[in-house]
Amino acid sequence: MVTILEERVGFRRRSLARHARRVAPAAADLVRSRIGALPPIKLVLTGDPNHMAQVASQSELDLVPGVSPRTIAKGMRRARRNARTKQGVTALAEHGVLVVVNLANVPTNRDVNAVLVHEFTHGHQLGDPYSRVQHLAYCQHEFRISVLPRRDIAAIEALIARREIEAEQAEYLAAQLPA
Ligand SMILES: [Zn+2]
Repeated sequence: MVTILEERVGFRRRSLARHARRVAPAAADLVRSRIGALPPIKLVLTGDPNHMAQVASQSELDLVPGVSPRTIAKGMRRARRNARTKQGVTALAEHGVLVVVNLANVPTNRDVNAVLVHEFTHGHQLGDPYSRVQHLAYCQHEFRISVLPRRDIAAIEALIARREIEAEQAEYLAAQLPA
């Protein structure tokens, strides 16, 4: 189930947003049938990289109470810096995952298809209960709420790197979607 919202989509990105809305359910079906089960997905389409950084960071902060204002400010700065070059991001949400697509970095309908398949693949990766618990523990570490042993951090970061490769490799499926 994909719930779609548009936030801060400027005039120039409107047709990309329309395409994303139209194709998102098919992209989710494709990932579900070829990669694996998906959790509930909230998809936010935006044309503003700072907004992408803000909503994705906030989604995970909402799951980790008690983060210090200083850590929040530092994390937001880093997320904004990363967002400038990113097409999308997937974060944990209260129910399932949040996918934010930054249409400012997605020039064509074909690129929209690829980023949806890529991020929905991340949705699959984070969707099962074990991955969710593990990623939350990583967030708590990143937000300085608890400290994970160094070897656990190394294992999670290696997993994140493998997941990135898996999501990139899944992008070929996007050719099956209408552009
Ligand atoms: Zn990725």
